[in-house]
Amino acid sequence: MSEELNPFKIAQKQLEKSVEVLGLEEEVHEILKEPMREFKVRIPIKMDDGTTKTFTGFRVQHNDARGPTKGGLRFHPDETLDTVKALSMWMTWKCAVVGIPYGGGKGGVICNPKELSVSELERLSRGYVRAIAQIISPLKDIPAPDVYTTPQVMAWMMDEYSTIVGYNAPGIITGKPIPIGGSLGRGNATAQGAVFCIREAEKLLDMDLSKSTAAIQGYGNAGYYAAHIMKGMGVKIIAVSDSKGGIYNPKGMDPEAILEHKRKTRSVINFPGAKNISNAELLEVDCDVLMPAALENQITGKNADKIKAKIVAELANGPVTPDADEIFMKKGIFDIPDFLCNAGGVTVSYFEWVQNQTGLYWPEQEVFERLDKIMTESFCAVHNTSTEKNIDMRTAAYVLAVSRVVESMRLRGWF
Ligand code: GLU
Repeated sequence: MSEELNPFKIAQKQLEKSVEVLGLEEEVHEILKEPMREFKVRIPIKMDDGTTKTFTGFRVQHNDARGPTKGGLRFHPDETLDTVKALSMWMTWKCAVVGIPYGGGKGGVICNPKELSVSELERLSRGYVRAIAQIISPLKDIPAPDVYTTPQVMAWMMDEYSTIVGYNAPGIITGKPIPIGGSLGRGNATAQGAVFCIREAEKLLDMDLSKSTAAIQGYGNAGYYAAHIMKGMGVKIIAVSDSKGGIYNPKGMDPEAILEHKRKTRSVINFPGAKNISNAELLEVDCDVLMPAALENQITGKNADKIKAKIVAELANGPVTPDADEIFMKKGIFDIPDFLCNAGGVTVSYFEWVQNQTGLYWPEQEVFERLDKIMTESFCAVHNTSTEKNIDMRTAAYVLAVSRVVESMRLRGWF
């Protein structure tokens, strides 16, 4: 990985910029620029053929000044400690920018879940929890789903942790299935939160959502639900993609039919009536809203100039690099930065955890209304900061988030 595409270096660079804008002391920057705890584990797992394979996993806790650390778990073959470190730092800013009482953490296991059987996946999920049990708890660090981890994986992990501590501990992890303490509305929360931001951005830009077109990179949980919700609001979904490639139809496509096609053929490509395109071409499609909803580093200095969308809504974590940010600014593209745009997931995770801790479960409408309020207020706060200080949306989100974390550290006497 080149230095400028190392997510942790990017996260540090973004932090540095906000430290400058805020005029923070070096001793404060020193606390924030590295995670407070990095935990690396080795997990031996019995495979179905009787052999034992040892996997490597991580859990990183960046900062807990505002509350227990919170953040997802990725099961990915290309996982690295630096990626997890970057994602943990972004979680600190994400929780702060939407004002929920958490710090930031993240975890990952280097593995390809597509090559594991269901029982191997279960043993790996349980093994990971046993390996990190000493550094997590509902009041210390609360994991959740992320790339290639599912509600079922959360269920196994919750069960394993509950067995270790000897009582039911649903608040140890969020994104669980509903019958065992999941929250209504958590499944589509990341996409729903992003759509609330897009709605506000379109208002600012005098655009009409019901006449807009959208392209979505990634057709996992976030990408699919974004297509589903946007279609319901009248948006035309003209391009989507997954890891195998993309599809394009300027007349618009039905998100449910695409999902069905992906279930049957394991990819969105070759969807009837659509033209196959590459993932690079998807990003360059002429549309109103582009949603990168896959992995980091998708829009860089190399392709940012070719983006034609008016709004880029970052559903993934870290999809736009700092040099692409500069090109966006020159081109006048309205970018909704990742840790604001995709904060709906962790916000409903917070609701789930509150419900677990109190034992009182909320109707879906309540989750939806509370999420709308938090996302809309956070979006407006970031946009106001950006206009007041004449800075871009990402720097404005950083300024708000970092100053909240710094205030908590100051009150707690950390410096
Ligand atoms: N993995 C999601 C994120 O990156 C959700 C985290 C959570 O719910 O704790 O925001």
